[in-house]
Amino acid sequence: MKFYSTQNKKNIVTLKEAILQGIADDGGLFMPTEIPRQPQSFFRDIRKCTFAEIANRIANSFFHDDIPSRDIESIVFNAFDFESPLVPLNHRLSVLELFHGPTLAFKDFGARFMARILSYLMQYDNSEITILVATSGDTGSAVANGFHNQSGIDVILLYPSGMVSEVQEKQLTTLAGNITALEVDGTFDDCQRLVKSAFLDQDIKRHRRFSSANSINIARLIPQSFYYFAAYSQLENHDTPLIVSVPAGNLGNLTAGLIAKEMGLPVQKFIAALNVNKVFHNYLNSGEYQALPAIQTLSNAMDVGNPSNFTRILALYENDHTKITNTIYSASFSDLSTRQAIKEIYSKFGYIMDPHGSVGYLAMKKYLSENILSNFHGIILETAHAAKFSSAVNEELNIEVEIPKVLKESLSRKKNAIKISKDFADFKSFLLEN
Ligand SMILES: *Cc1c(COP(=O)(O)O)cnc(C)c1O
Repeated sequence: MKFYSTQNKKNIVTLKEAILQGIADDGGLFMPTEIPRQPQSFFRDIRKCTFAEIANRIANSFFHDDIPSRDIESIVFNAFDFESPLVPLNHRLSVLELFHGPTLAFKDFGARFMARILSYLMQYDNSEITILVATSGDTGSAVANGFHNQSGIDVILLYPSGMVSEVQEKQLTTLAGNITALEVDGTFDDCQRLVKSAFLDQDIKRHRRFSSANSINIARLIPQSFYYFAAYSQLENHDTPLIVSVPAGNLGNLTAGLIAKEMGLPVQKFIAALNVNKVFHNYLNSGEYQALPAIQTLSNAMDVGNPSNFTRILALYENDHTKITNTIYSASFSDLSTRQAIKEIYSKFGYIMDPHGSVGYLAMKKYLSENILSNFHGIILETAHAAKFSSAVNEELNIEVEIPKVLKESLSRKKNAIKISKDFADFKSFLLEN
C-alpha cells in the first residue's frame, strides 16, 4: 500500500516512509492511495470473529504488499489482546466500549498497533529510533504504554508539570525501561514547542533518528477502523440501518469510521458529536472552514480548535461539501448539557458514561429527534472509561465510580520523571547527552 499527501495526490510514499515521517514534507497528512473493499464473505463470517481476527483480515487487506501475512498476524494479535464489547442500552441503542485497553481509552488501539508495526519495519535498520511526544495527558499515556518494551525504539515524553491529573502523571512516569518522562516547568504549548524545535535542530538530527507518534500518524488511524467492524459483528440483526455517534476532537476517530464505510461497512449516518469546540459543525452548516481557539471543557480530549484530520475528510470526499453532509451529521453541546446527560444515561439505562461518551449520547438523541426513523440501530462510541473522569461523574451521580485494577496498579507505583526547564537549550543538551 502506498500513501499520498492530502496536499498533493502525486506526493506518494511507502508505508515505512509514511509512518516515520508522520506528516508529509509538503505539510499534508498521509492517506492510503486505495481503500480496500472487503468481500461479501467477510461480512458473512464476521459474526464468529474475535476483535483480533477481524483486525487481522483488514490489516492484511491494507498491508499485504509490505508485510507477510504471518507477521501481520503476530503484530495484530500482540497489539489487540483486548476486545471492544457492544453493550446494549435498550433494543435500539448500544454503547461500543473502547476503553478495555491498558490506558482505558480508545487511543490504545492506535498507539499499540503503531508501536508494533514501526518496531517491525525498523528491525533490519541498524539505528535505534527515538519517539518524541509532547502530551497533555491521554495521548502520552497511550503512546508510552503502546511502545513500552518495543525493541529498537526509545520514547521521550514531555508533559507540563502540575497540569496533568495524578492518574495521568502516574501512567506517564511509572513505566521505566525504554520510556523516559520529562516533567517540563511550563505549559503544554511549551512542551510542543520544545518537540517542534528538536525536530528542526541539525545537531540533534545528527545525533539520533527521531520520529513522532502523534495522532495524525497513519499507523494510528488505520487500526481505529477495525473496531467499527467489531461493532457490526456483534449486532443481532445485520440488516438494520446503522447510525454511529462519534465523540470528536481532532476527528481521527470519525475519519477511521468513514474509512470503514469506504471499505464496505454499511453505516447509514455518522454523527460528529462535539462539545462547544464546533469548528467542524460550523463547516458542515456553512461550507466555510474557520479554525478557532480551543475552549476548555469537561470532555477535554475534544477541546480542539483546528482539527487536524479535517483535511483527510476533505480528501476522502474530494472536497465535496454535499457528499460530506450526506454522510455526516453533527451537533454541539455545553458542559451543562453534558453533566445532565451523565445523569440521564444513568437513570434511564443504569449505565455510567464518561463526559466524552455523554456528548456522543446527546448528539445521537438530537439526531433521532430530528429524523423519525422506523427502523435503525444506534451505536454510541464510549471513548474512555468513566473512572478516568471520576470527579465529574461522581459529582453528578453521587456514587464512587469503581477504579479498574490497571489504574489502581499505576497509582501505587513510584513516579520517575526528570525535571527540565522550558528552555530549548536544556532540552537540547539532555537529548545530546543521552
Ligand atoms: C482523543 C479523544 C477523543 C477525540 O478523538 P479524535 O480522534 O481526536 O476526534 C475523544 N475522547 C477521548 C476520551 C479521547 O481521548
